Amino acid sequence: MKTILKTDITVKDICEGFVYNELEGKGLFGLSGKLTIQPEYQRNYIYASDGGKREMAVIESLLKDYPIGLIYFNKVSENNLEVLDGQQRITSVGRFVTDKFAIKDENGMQYFGGMAKDKKAKILETKLLIYECEGTESQIKEWFKTINIAGVPLVSQELLNAIYSGPFVTLGKEEFSNSQNANIQKWSAYVKGSANRQAFFERALDWASKGNIDDYMSIHRHDKNINELKKYFNSVIDWVSGVFIDVESEMRGLEWGRMYEQYHKKAYNPAKVSAEAQKLYGDPYIKNRKGIFEYILGGSIDTKLLEVRVFDDATKKAVYAAQTAKAKKKGKSNCPHCAIGHDANKEKIWSLSDMDADHVAAWSKGGATSAKNCQMLCKTHNRAKGNR
Ligand SMILES: [Zn+2]
Repeated sequence: MKTILKTDITVKDICEGFVYNELEGKGLFGLSGKLTIQPEYQRNYIYASDGGKREMAVIESLLKDYPIGLIYFNKVSENNLEVLDGQQRITSVGRFVTDKFAIKDENGMQYFGGMAKDKKAKILETKLLIYECEGTESQIKEWFKTINIAGVPLVSQELLNAIYSGPFVTLGKEEFSNSQNANIQKWSAYVKGSANRQAFFERALDWASKGNIDDYMSIHRHDKNINELKKYFNSVIDWVSGVFIDVESEMRGLEWGRMYEQYHKKAYNPAKVSAEAQKLYGDPYIKNRKGIFEYILGGSIDTKLLEVRVFDDATKKAVYAAQTAKAKKKGKSNCPHCAIGHDANKEKIWSLSDMDADHVAAWSKGGATSAKNCQMLCKTHNRAKGNR
């Protein structure tokens, strides 16, 4: 890969013909049309989030002569450059110069258009440090994979978008990475993360590919549509929102794709499901509320999903002591199941470490996790006892 360091390109040059697309949240072109600021593999502009602190910091740096770091361009052809690294900084500068946001100075909030001449000139005349790189697509992408952009590391989906850039990624981002998409609010009930950082695109790919995003993107890379992806993602979302009519915060970020595959052929009565979910939500013994949904989907059998609160050590010790004293008096085993058996263990006194606590009345049948409902069983018998 060939690289040339350029030190004579000014902010003014870069901002010549700058276009910012509000709808897509992207800086598009600069350098009089020669520069593509956001190639397909770049992420969306995020410096305007967080109240715009980051984009303001870029402008303040220019005014104070602080370096804003190296910028990398990929030389595609004689008259065509793409930003490899520096898109966020360039977009900040372009947005400021076109009065898209203001900075705070001694006179209050200042737009570029209203600034003193000398300050304007200072910004426009700032020279940037730019490396122009020339190489094959794979060289550039390999290299892009190894750099991190100023302070905000690329998340893996952003890397995959870079590696498999093409019409499929473009369409996928239009649908799933567009914060203006009206469906985002609905999706957010089940998927964690933000559109900007590719959370929905990644989840859609993850679900549709059954966890093989890399392969899926490689196979579909040159597809001219994302119909299958959209259809699958929407099927999962429609299924969850149909089965569980109440939206709970614990639903966010669960493995809905896997659960859809596992359970979507079973019939559920949403009203009944809702009543059961509410009951479980009110149960103080359930430690893992995230498990409630799959517990219900699976027919309310697998209590492991709920992490029902276990007996504490003090309770176990007290119950063990009482049970053992009684057993010794009778000359029987301190495991009540062993005591009624006919083998060699019927008089065995187990040590505390050889026993486990058990709910006399099972939790799933309403049994409490209290000393009254606790009995100690030898490990073998405890394991053998099914419904806990
Ligand atoms: Zn036993």
